[in-house]
Amino acid sequence: MTTFDPRTAALADLREWAQNQATARQRLLAAAWRAGVRNVAELSRTAGVSRDTVYEDLRRESIDPTKRSTMPTITALSRRAQVREHLSRIIAAAPLRASRDDHVDLAVYDRQVQQLEILWLLFGRDEVAEFYSSWLSDEIAEQAKTAIGLTSWSDAPMSTAPIPRWNRDRHGFLCVGCGDSFWHLASLNVSLDRWCKSCARDLEELQPSEVWEPRRPDIHGNLEFPGLLPDEPRDNMLHVQVTAGPPMDLVLGEANAFLLAEGWMGLTADENRQLGGPFDAATMDATGTAAPAGGPEFMWTASFVYDRSPQGWHKTAYGFRLVTGTLSSAAGVQSFDDAFQMLDTIALSAKRDQR
Ligand SMILES: [Zn+2]
Repeated sequence: MTTFDPRTAALADLREWAQNQATARQRLLAAAWRAGVRNVAELSRTAGVSRDTVYEDLRRESIDPTKRSTMPTITALSRRAQVREHLSRIIAAAPLRASRDDHVDLAVYDRQVQQLEILWLLFGRDEVAEFYSSWLSDEIAEQAKTAIGLTSWSDAPMSTAPIPRWNRDRHGFLCVGCGDSFWHLASLNVSLDRWCKSCARDLEELQPSEVWEPRRPDIHGNLEFPGLLPDEPRDNMLHVQVTAGPPMDLVLGEANAFLLAEGWMGLTADENRQLGGPFDAATMDATGTAAPAGGPEFMWTASFVYDRSPQGWHKTAYGFRLVTGTLSSAAGVQSFDDAFQMLDTIALSAKRDQR
């Protein structure tokens, strides 16, 4: 086991940012173009650069902006877009709350956690935490416009630290003062620094009126995650032996949820998976069973196609993407073209008190 060195991790973060920063704008512009935004004025306005710069960036990404009609449009959503769409909807199921607000609706919370688990199975905790962290920053900035300071320190929740302690905090869930406890409070000044109660009161010597408590989703605690370092694996891989050449690793992608969801809803996967097609557009067919507690027994089938399109800053492939899936039970057969929906159907059929 290697000893964790926070200085090395901080430098790795900085290096990753610097390397990606240089080409981030052109890649994001190209992604917007490929997603169907063909209005150069709109791209220029959104990116805050001149139209000439937009043209240059697109050409650097091998896109000829004069050939509008012949460019293929990618309709499949990126992983980040999927996480954004699903997580925004999951969060919206319940009002945001501060610690002194009304009690949590446990039935709604239970369902939120269940759907969050599906997102983790499909895209991993780090990717979900990364999107949540940026969503939360926007949300806090919005709430700050009407925030009112506390009247007394007794209104602030106690400082609590993760158990076990984290040796990193890549998504900003810990207090900026101690880096040890979770934050519960934000400064009322423009910086919106996030503090734990002890640090705000004792270290920073703020007055209660100088801090406020942002309202957060009930599932905030479930979403807190220390994050992965740049060199840590973020995707499960499928090790493939091709007939000619060395073995290859393919990103499991959505297939991860079906093949490796150990213990989730009694899901099992058969050993005999059919891999086919050319290596850069591989297909995979898998089958198995699911037995949600108190629910029906399902037989499932799932067909995936390998999506090589690079995702986010990490530029790893999307991985296997569900094309079609079926769920068969005594009640009949249902077909799906969306992995989240298919897994959510299994989850919904579990008896609530046995989940
Ligand atoms: Zn602190």
